[in-house]
Amino acid sequence: MPNGYEHIRIVLVNTSHPGNIGAAARAMKNMGLARLYLVAPKEFPSEKAVWRASQALDVLDSAVVVDTLDEAIADCGLVIGTSARGRRIPWPLFTPRECGDRVWAEAQTHQIAIVFGREDRGLTNEELHKCHYHVHIPSNPEYSSLNLACAVQVLAYEIRMSALTEQEGKPITLEEWDQPPARADDVERYYEHLQQTLETLHFLEPGNPRQTVTRLRRLYNRIRLDQMELNILRGILTSVQNYIFHTKNKIRELEDKLPD
Ligand code: SAH
Repeated sequence: MPNGYEHIRIVLVNTSHPGNIGAAARAMKNMGLARLYLVAPKEFPSEKAVWRASQALDVLDSAVVVDTLDEAIADCGLVIGTSARGRRIPWPLFTPRECGDRVWAEAQTHQIAIVFGREDRGLTNEELHKCHYHVHIPSNPEYSSLNLACAVQVLAYEIRMSALTEQEGKPITLEEWDQPPARADDVERYYEHLQQTLETLHFLEPGNPRQTVTRLRRLYNRIRLDQMELNILRGILTSVQNYIFHTKNKIRELEDKLPD
């Protein structure tokens, strides 16, 4: 299998029907993809998945089962979430074709996840906010939600089209960058650090971040932080926290010296 395909994983979150897992595995293999991640599937392994996978049993057998979305995307530099409908806070959006081009271009250098939601209610906002981009298959607005495995098929097909276009000698260009992209788990740790610091500064109410944190996530996701930038931002937060710590100590010392 050429290198790019190995870097692309399909993540199915909390799937109810094992038949859809099998059908997704088949859709993937037909298009040259092999890396399937299952986040807390309701029923897996399952005979129904095996039936629907047909000749893609290898994809099913090597599926990685994890408890949380964070684990499934931890080492990824690009995370794309799929959505059957528009959401309250708009997010950077790809068409399926743009998604294929971008995924194929970036798959040459780092790990990529495309995340699919539950059959009955898709992905939660919290899950969607972990993604750099969202992709919507422009379906009939009066009946916009595709079967899960069909949605996997459409997006896997677009990736294959991008790969074939490149093989025909029309390379897809992505601007040159001097640093690798930040990994999702490192960015998650940064958000925790940021929230703590903003709470210490009383910019955020402790335990009640409201929409500010979501908006900050969207801001950073839009930028697509690289590893160096992330290190700098974490360094800034550490300096702020050290400064607060030392200032508080100084104030305490001065207060102790004041006459009662
Ligand atoms: N009722 C759910 C739809 C879930 S369909 C909702 O309103 O969100 C199951 C999954 O298939 C979705 O989470 C998404 O991953 C994928 N999917 C279905 N239709 C899609 C579309 N038009 N564009 C992108 N992904 C779609």
